[in-house]
Amino acid sequence: MPSALAAATPERLFRQEVLALHAYHVPPCTGMVKLDAMENPYPLPPQLREEIARLVADAAINRYPDASARCLKEKIRTVTGLTQGMEVLLGNGSDEIIQLLALAVARPGATLLSVEPSFVMYRMIAAFAGMQYVGVPLTEDFALDLHAMLDAIKRHQPALVFIAYPNNPTGNLFDAEAIRQIIAATPGLVVVDEAYYAFADASFIPMLARYPSLLVMRTFSKLGMAGLRLGFLVGGKAWLEQLEKLRLPYNIGVLTQLVAEKLLQHHEVLLQQAEQIKQDRKWLYERLVGTVDVRAYPSEANFILFHVAHASKVFEGLKQRGVLIKNMNGVHAALADCLRVTVGTQEENERFIAALQESIHNS
Ligand SMILES: *Cc1c(COP(=O)(O)O)cnc(C)c1O
Repeated sequence: MPSALAAATPERLFRQEVLALHAYHVPPCTGMVKLDAMENPYPLPPQLREEIARLVADAAINRYPDASARCLKEKIRTVTGLTQGMEVLLGNGSDEIIQLLALAVARPGATLLSVEPSFVMYRMIAAFAGMQYVGVPLTEDFALDLHAMLDAIKRHQPALVFIAYPNNPTGNLFDAEAIRQIIAATPGLVVVDEAYYAFADASFIPMLARYPSLLVMRTFSKLGMAGLRLGFLVGGKAWLEQLEKLRLPYNIGVLTQLVAEKLLQHHEVLLQQAEQIKQDRKWLYERLVGTVDVRAYPSEANFILFHVAHASKVFEGLKQRGVLIKNMNGVHAALADCLRVTVGTQEENERFIAALQESIHNS
């Protein structure tokens, strides 16, 4: 017998914020020079790969992982030089940590504040968690607009502020003194997102002891472990103890724990690769600056944002020539005609520059 009840559909059942979201789009990339996602282009040295293969072969994947990932956390403490009194929280990528933080503070009407343009997940996760979102525009040269920030903080009393340092997609480091003023003025938590720490020479980790409401988040994704999905948050014990309760018990798998521990034992290998990427960033930046019609923005990260006339056509031209970068045109008003390229190997960078020049001439 047909029911008098209306059939369940996503439109009837799901929250309006969810229906209004656009799914995070990941384009196909088979066979392409892949310079769209800020990945480290280098493989690991063969000997380290063999060690990892042995570890994986012996791993007890029939057992649940160590729920508190004690060994891995210890390694992280060592490589980050974490002091007593500071705790570590692990996430399945730092995206998961952003979500944990939002879930923790999402009381009715709570606000998440960030800058625009910045990492899109701050806004998306605010929507997932049912939070209000406020995005304060950066200045024309992508600096923090401190006056506007302090104003917005006063008006919206955010429970959570995210500042990417260096910023994605603009690549710059914001003024540290401005960030300190923002921390001092914020009634809630301020999270400095250091996803690109390996490519910059600045960090807020040394500031943790001074600012009790400051947390610092990092990921290993951009350092050469994007496939493992591992991020972490550091900060005062009182905060992290509460956040631990929201973390799903086995969010970091056995294989991720084993491989990440091994890689952190050889942290210098990854840091050397980051050093190479920093040198190649300089080469790439100079080439972009020297390309007619291109305006490149200085970067402290492993990618470069640049402006070019007819960006979407140039982007398509690059794709036809087998080079995938990220089209930022249309993502935000301040990014009109902007493209973002990840620093690849020297050969990839050369292929990109050649394809870019051809695409510009033919657009
Ligand atoms: C890439 C990125 C992240 C997320 O990295 P995960 O892969 O989820 O660890 C976080 N913040 C910024 C600014 C990023 O660019």
